[in-house]
Amino acid sequence: MKKEPEQAEVNIGLIGHVDHGKTSITHALSGKWTDTHSEELKRGISIRLGYADAVFYKCPTCKGAEAYTTKETCPSCGKKAKKLRKVSFVDAPGHETLMTTMLSGAALMHGAILVIAANEFCPQPRTKEHLMALKLSGIKNIIVAQNKIDLVDKKKAMENYNQIENFLKEFDYTTEIIPTAAHFGTNMDLLIEAIEKHIPSPKVDSKDAVKMYVARSFDINKPGSKPKELVGGVLGGTIIQGKIKEGDTLELSPGINNQKTKIKATELNIAEGKIKEATPGGLISIRTLLDPNLTKNDQMKGNIIGKIGTLAEATAEIKMKINYFKREITDINPEVRQDETIVLSVGTATTIGNIISIKKDELEVALKVPITVEKNQNVAVSKKDGTRWRLIAYGTIQ
Ligand code: ZN
Repeated sequence: MKKEPEQAEVNIGLIGHVDHGKTSITHALSGKWTDTHSEELKRGISIRLGYADAVFYKCPTCKGAEAYTTKETCPSCGKKAKKLRKVSFVDAPGHETLMTTMLSGAALMHGAILVIAANEFCPQPRTKEHLMALKLSGIKNIIVAQNKIDLVDKKKAMENYNQIENFLKEFDYTTEIIPTAAHFGTNMDLLIEAIEKHIPSPKVDSKDAVKMYVARSFDINKPGSKPKELVGGVLGGTIIQGKIKEGDTLELSPGINNQKTKIKATELNIAEGKIKEATPGGLISIRTLLDPNLTKNDQMKGNIIGKIGTLAEATAEIKMKINYFKREITDINPEVRQDETIVLSVGTATTIGNIISIKKDELEVALKVPITVEKNQNVAVSKKDGTRWRLIAYGTIQ
C-alpha cells in the first residue's frame, strides 16, 4: 500500500529586504527554488508567497552544528542521520507593494528567519516593515541570518552585526544571529541548529476547535469539463489549531455573500498528494462541494474555516484601539485622521476602510468588504503616503 504523504509540522517565514537572500536561503535549506507556479498550484495549495518543504536530520555521532543536515546521511561522517521533523518555508515577497501579501503570509507563520545582507546598512526599509508585521502578528520565535558574509571583511561584518543587534533591540527581540553565505551553502548547519533551538512546532491539541486561515481559493476544473466531471471549489491555507478529517462538515466565515456557509471537506491535499487528516503546519487544500465559480481566482481568500458554531459572523464596521508605531520606525507621521481611508489586514484578509470616528486611541472604521474578526485580535493598519501604502500601526479589536 502506498504510504500517505507527510505534512510539515511548522511554517517558517523567510522575511527581510528584497535581494538580501531569502530565496537563496530557502534553496540552500530545501534544495528547491520557491515557486508560485509549480505542480502545487494545480492541487490548489500554493499561496502567492513562494514556499518549499524540507526535512531536518541530526547525526547521532557528530557533535555540534556539524550534526545538523537536510540529508538522510551525515555529510561529515557518512552515517545514517536521525530524522527530526519536516518544515515548510514561506518566502515573503520583499517588494513594498506586496506588503498585504506579506501580512497575509505572517498570519500563517509560526516563526521566521529574518534575512539581513551583511554588505548593506541595517535596517533597510522593508527589513523594518517585515519585522513590524511579525511583531503585530504575535510571532515571537525568530532567528537572524546575516547573509552574504562572503562579500565583506571582518571589520565590516562586525559593524553590521552591531547594527542588527541594535535594530532587534528596538523591537524587543533577542535572538541568535547566524552568519551565512547562502549561495555557497555556508553555515546552513548552524542555521538548522538555531531553527531547531528557537522555532518549535506548534502543539497539536485535538481538543482545540479547528481554525484555518484561507490564503487562496481555486477552481481546479479544466475549461470545457463535462458537468459530471466537475469537482467542487478548493480552499487552501494553513490550520492554526485543531485538525480536519476527510468528510468533516465545517463552517466558513465571512462565507458566501458574507453569510456563514457550511462546507464539507470531501478531500484533503498537501503538495505530495492526498491525506486523510490535516493538522497545523504546512499548506493544505480542502476540496469542497462549493460551486467552483465561487472559489476561483482567490475569491475566498481571507475567510476562516472553523468548527460549526464557533466562528463569528462577518462585520462591516469595527471598533479598535490603535497603537501607532514610532515615527523613527515608520519614517512618516503614523497618525490617521477622521474620514481617512486605511487598509486593514487581519489574518489572511485585507480590506479597505473609512475612519468614521476617532475618540482618543479608539477608532471606528466602516469597511468596504466585511471581515470576520475576534475580540482582542490584532489588525495591521496601513495608510497612504503618496502612491504607496505604508504600515503605520496595529489595532486591537474591541
Ligand atoms: Zn556524522
